[in-house]
Amino acid sequence: MEISEKILEILRSKISKKSWEMWFGTFSVKSVTEALITFSVGNLFIKDWLSQKYDKQFKSSIREIFTKNIPYVIEDEMAETELTEKKEKKERLIRKRPVVYSDFNKEYTFENFVVGPFNEEAYDGTLEVSKFSGKMNPFFIYGGVGLGKTHLLHAMGNYLIQNSPDTRVMYVTAEKFMNDLVMAIRKNSTQEFRKNFREKIDVLMIDDIQFLMGKNGIQSELFHTLNHLLDHSKQIVLCSDRTPTQLSEFQPRLVSRFQMGLVVKVYDPDIETAVQIVRTFAKRSGILLTNEMAREIANSSNNVRTIKGIVTKLVFKSSKSDINDVVISNAVKDVIGNHPIMKSANSEKELFFQVLSSVFDVLPAELDAKLRTARLSSARQIGMYFARKYMHKTFSEIGKWFGRDHSSVVYSCKKVDESIRKGNLKVREKIFLLQNLLHKQRGESAG
Ligand code: ADP
Ligand code: MG
Repeated sequence: MEISEKILEILRSKISKKSWEMWFGTFSVKSVTEALITFSVGNLFIKDWLSQKYDKQFKSSIREIFTKNIPYVIEDEMAETELTEKKEKKERLIRKRPVVYSDFNKEYTFENFVVGPFNEEAYDGTLEVSKFSGKMNPFFIYGGVGLGKTHLLHAMGNYLIQNSPDTRVMYVTAEKFMNDLVMAIRKNSTQEFRKNFREKIDVLMIDDIQFLMGKNGIQSELFHTLNHLLDHSKQIVLCSDRTPTQLSEFQPRLVSRFQMGLVVKVYDPDIETAVQIVRTFAKRSGILLTNEMAREIANSSNNVRTIKGIVTKLVFKSSKSDINDVVISNAVKDVIGNHPIMKSANSEKELFFQVLSSVFDVLPAELDAKLRTARLSSARQIGMYFARKYMHKTFSEIGKWFGRDHSSVVYSCKKVDESIRKGNLKVREKIFLLQNLLHKQRGESAG
C-alpha cells in the first residue's frame, strides 16, 4: 500500500463515518517528505475547518505511521493555480463567507424533525431542494401556524452550512425584508440592498410571505429580486400560511412566480401522528408517558408547537412531582388556557375567530353572518381593529373575513381606536385577552 493511502486509512479509522463523508470528500495526501506532509482539500473553508477540528487526529495518525512527529499543512486546491488568479479567487471566496450567515437555530435540523403523513411532502421537498439547489424553483411551503414550516427552513440552512459550506444562504422573514427595504430607501442605499438580496446570495429564504399582502411597493421589489435570482439559477424558498392563490392583494405576476416551481402543503397532523409526536418529544426530553397520557395531550391540540410547549411544561413539572392525569391537564391548561376551544383551526381566520368567539362568548359562525346584537357588534368591531393593528391585515382582507365591506371595516377600526384613546377599559381588557389567548394558542409562550 502506498504511504499516502496508508495515512488516509489510519486517519479514516479515527473519524466517524458521517464526518468523514461530510468533510473529507475532496481530501487527499499531496506529498510526503521527512520534513513535511502536505494534504490538499478542494475548498478553502473546509481547509480551515479541518485543521481546527481534526488537528489531533492528523497528528496522531502521522505519529502512528512514522513513529515520530512530522509537521503537516493542508492546502486548498487553488494553491496549485497561478498566483494572481489564486489571489483573486481566494478573495472572492473569503468574501463569500460572512454573507452566508443568517443565524440558524441549531435545534431546528432535519434530524430533529418528526416526519409523518401530514408533513412528509414538505419534509421530502425541503431535503430535495437542500441537496439539489435550483432544481425546483421557487420552492413554496404553506400550512397553518405551528406546523413546522420555519423549522424546515432552518433545517435547510443548517444542512447547507454543513454540506456545502460555500453556499451563501440568507434567511429573512418577509417583515425583515420589508424593514430592510424601507430602511434602505430612507438611507438612500437601495443599491446596496439590491446587491445584498440579488448578488450576494445563492439561496434566499423568505418566511411568512403573507405578511406582504397589500404591500404593493414591497411586492414590486420582491418581484424583481426573485426574477433576478431565478435568472441566475439561485434557489428561492418561500413559506406562507396559505396557498399562493389565497394570497389576496398580491400582484398576480408574483403569485404566478410562486406557482412556477414546487408548491407543498403541511397538513394538520392526524391524531395518530400527533400521539407519535408527543411520544417523540417526551422521549427526547427524558420523560415517560403512557399511551393514554400521550393521547390526552395529542387530543388537546394538533398544533405541533403547542404540543411541544405542553411537553416542555411537563418536563418542568416532572421535576417537582410525578406525572399523572392532573399534572397533564394542568400543563395543557397552562399552555392552551382554560378555553376548551381551538382544536383544529385550519386557517388564520379560523383560529382568530375561535379566539374571538371565546373572548366574547359568541359562536364563530355568527361573526361573519348578518345577525346583529350588541355583543356581536362589539366582537366584530374589536376583532376588526385587532386584526388590523396586531395581525397587520389589510382592510379588504378583514372585510372578507367578516363579510363586511371596506368602509365598514375602516369605520369599525376608527371607532375602536377612539374608545381606546378615551380610556375605555373594557375594550382594552378585551384586546389584552385576545392578545394573550392568540399568543398562547400559537404556542409562542412555549416554544
Ligand atoms: P410554523 O413556522 O409552521 O408556524 P414552526 O416551524 O415555528 O412552525 O414550529 C413550531 C415549533 O414546533 C418549533 O419549535 C418546531 O421545532 C416544532 N415543530 C414543528 N413541527 C415539528 C416536527 N415535525 N418535528 C419536530 N418539531 C416540530
Ligand atoms: Mg413560522
